[in-house]
Amino acid sequence: MILAQTNQNDDIFGGVNDFFDSGLWIAARNLTLFFVVIFWLATAYWVYKDARRRIDDGWLVAMAALLGLIPPFLGPIIYLFFRPPEYLDDVRERELEIKAMEERLARRDLHCPVCRAQVDQSFLVCPVCTTRLKQACVKCSSPLEALWQICPYCATPVATPSLPGLDDTLSGDSWTQPAAQPRRRSAESD
Ligand SMILES: [Zn+2]
Ligand SMILES: [Zn+2]
Repeated sequence: MILAQTNQNDDIFGGVNDFFDSGLWIAARNLTLFFVVIFWLATAYWVYKDARRRIDDGWLVAMAALLGLIPPFLGPIIYLFFRPPEYLDDVRERELEIKAMEERLARRDLHCPVCRAQVDQSFLVCPVCTTRLKQACVKCSSPLEALWQICPYCATPVATPSLPGLDDTLSGDSWTQPAAQPRRRSAESD
């Protein structure tokens, strides 16, 4: 409409036409182009930053950054469809939480059968009531589980009667009782 008017009235609108042609129009076009390029680079940078937080592999991060750059504005949208759903930090944090929870659950089951005191998996004797919890391997002194027939650490067969300090001081089934005699403690310490 402006162009039609300037064609009809050259002497009045000629200056306005020139102004739009040379000055403001080109400036506005350049400014728009400038902002489009800035926005293009910003989206590509965002893709790179986001990919680095989600992808562990360096090559895949580089490919994602290239995708954010090369089809301008379309690449970031394609990336949004295929990016991993979680941040690496969140994945690591969740794995740590699961591990800690598993450790907590495993530890909760380990109690002395007599006094219910919390005991470690490597304890041979309950430190509170001196109840014998596990046998020690005669060769390497590793704690042995009740059902083990052979020491898994040094391959020595488990021989229950030959354990020193068990059959001479703790006779029969009395060693499972919580009676804490000072005689027994001294016998087990050797
Ligand atoms: Zn105990
Ligand atoms: Zn052993």
